[in-house]
Parts: sequence; C-alpha cells; structure tokens
Amino acid sequence: IKKIGVLTSGGDAPGMNAAIRAVVRAGFYYNLEVYGIYRGYEGMINDDIRKMDSRSIAHVLERGGTFLKSARSQEFRTPEGRKKAYDNLRKHGIDALVVIGGDGSLTGAHLFYKEYGIPAVGLPGTIDNDLFGTDLTIGFDTACNTAIEAIDKIRDTATSHDRLFFIEVMGRDAGFIAINAGIGSAAAAILIPEKKMPVESLIERLKSREKAKKESNIVIVAEGGKSGGAAEIAEKVQKILPTYDIKVTILGHLQRGGAPSAFDRTLASKLGVSAVEGLLQGKYDVMVGVINNKVVFTPIKRAIVDDKKVDEEELRIAAILST
Ligand code: ATP
Repeated sequence: IKKIGVLTSGGDAPGMNAAIRAVVRAGFYYNLEVYGIYRGYEGMINDDIRKMDSRSIAHVLERGGTFLKSARSQEFRTPEGRKKAYDNLRKHGIDALVVIGGDGSLTGAHLFYKEYGIPAVGLPGTIDNDLFGTDLTIGFDTACNTAIEAIDKIRDTATSHDRLFFIEVMGRDAGFIAINAGIGSAAAAILIPEKKMPVESLIERLKSREKAKKESNIVIVAEGGKSGGAAEIAEKVQKILPTYDIKVTILGHLQRGGAPSAFDRTLASKLGVSAVEGLLQGKYDVMVGVINNKVVFTPIKRAIVDDKKVDEEELRIAAILST
C-alpha cells in the first residue's frame, strides 16, 4: 500500500476532523501518500479527490464538523456509481481507504471491498454510539456534553416556572445519548427506543416526584423512541395531567456541532493512527474501535450487523436516581 484515501460519510460528528488529521499524519509517518476524498462517496464518484499535505490538516483537530465534508450518496448504492468510484480511485492510484462514518458508510466500504477488493478500514464516526465493536464512537462524548449543557439551561427555566419539560435528543434507533444525557442531567425519566416505558409508569413516576416536592421535571426522550417523539408523549401526558405546565424542546442538530471534547479528540486520534497501521498490517474490511481501553479490529460485517446493547447497569442506575 502506497496511497490511501480518507473520507467522512453519513451524519457528521465532532471529532471527525481529529480522525482525518490522525490518518493523514500517520500516513506521512509511514511514508504513504494520502488523498482526501470530499463529500464521502459522492466525491469518489465525482472525482473530488485532493492530495493532502501537512497544511491541509493544520488547525483542524479542534474544529467541529468535517473539513472533508460529508454527504449521503444515493449513487454509491448502485453498481454503476461504485464502478465510477472505483475508476476514479484507480486514476489516482489509491490502494486503500479509511472510511469514517456510521453503519451505512461502513456497509458501503464492505460492499466496495467485496466488489473491487479495495482494502478498507472503518472508523466509527457517529454521535449515536450505535456501532458494535467499540465501547464508544467518535462524537458521542461531545454530543452528550452539548446535550447536557443545553438541558442545564432548560432546567433553570423549568425550575423557575415549576414546569415539566420533555427534551428530545438524537438517536433514531439508539438510546445511548438519551441515557447518558439523562443520567448527567438528573432526568425524571429517560425514554429510549430499546425499551418501551408505558405512559402509566411515566405518570406514576411524575406523581411520586410531585409528592416528593421536586421543583422541576425533565424527561429525556430519544427521537426514535418506541413510545413516540417528545411532542407525542408530551401530548399524551398533558391529557392525563391537565394541570401540569408542560413544554417540549427538541435539541436537534445542535448536538452535532461544536468543538470535540478532549475525550473525542483522543479517541479519534488513537483510532486514526490505528486504522493506518491496521491497513499496513493487512487488516482489511474491519472497523477499528476501542474496547476496555484497548484498540480492537472487528470485521465490518459484524460491526454493522451485530446489535450494540444498551447498558442495563446504566438503566438501573438511572432508575434509582430518578425515583
Ligand atoms: P449516521 O449513523 O450518522 O446516519 P451513516 O454512515 O449510517 O451515518 P448513511 O446515510 O446510512 O449514514 O450512509 C452513508 C452513505 O453510505 C450513504 O449515503 C451511501 O452512500 C453509503 N451506503 C449506505 N448503505 C449502503 C449500501 N447498502 N450500499 C452501498 N452504499 C451504502
């Protein structure tokens, strides 16, 4: 392997820049040429591919988003699109790829490896933390910190007006942000897609907190929760508790932005270097993650198929602390 390409794909996550920088720096360290592929698989198809030098990655470590930009490419899902992408890689002589993104992006890398034999190492870059094969994904810690900071502010106004707030955090299919942000912000309840909480239990919890004279109530709802989004649940609760002053806040894309936390910078840096070293050691079609503080390579197929389970212990702790 002499020339590698790096790209960010799918939803952006804080720390992606730190990961790109680590890949580029490690590439230089091992005397490789490194190419930045812009807008994920779109750039591979449209030949938006530029050779990186040390200036390309100056002062990007601390910046949110991804300077290579990200995209969702419909064309890459088609064999014709992937053929175009392959031809462009050949044109530049790119031997291998580092793909930073979520499960969709890794699925693309896996398929591309199977079809064209282009070695790829995936990096888990998603705020959702929903990838098997790593304890944490790049961007998750920052997103949780951002959510908690916002929830703290909402708590102030909730307390001043004795209000009940339903705050929706990101996580279409995964409750990781909700659990973490909920524990970190003393939530009255946490509603996640993986575990349905009946409205009756929520009402019971709220009533017992009223008896305990809690000044404010914050309920954290993951956007894809089986019980519905924050607005839907708030409406149901309002019908049952008409005297409650209920408000809904959706944190939305706020959670994707911002400078990466110290943790995410370190994780991204570690994984970026390990990805390049993995490629050089012939570890192809794998995702590099960290499990129990050790770098671990997991076949992409497992990373995208196996479910990462929510931590039952964290749920138990959250329940104790909110009662
Ligand atoms: P996030 O977790 O933030 O949503 P993601 O990587 O899962 O990130 P997706 O939109 O699912 O985001 O995937 C990103 C891109 O990966 C797609 O736009 C597409 O180009 C490519 N991709 C996803 N699934 C496939 C597939 N089955 N075949 C080929 N390419 C795919």
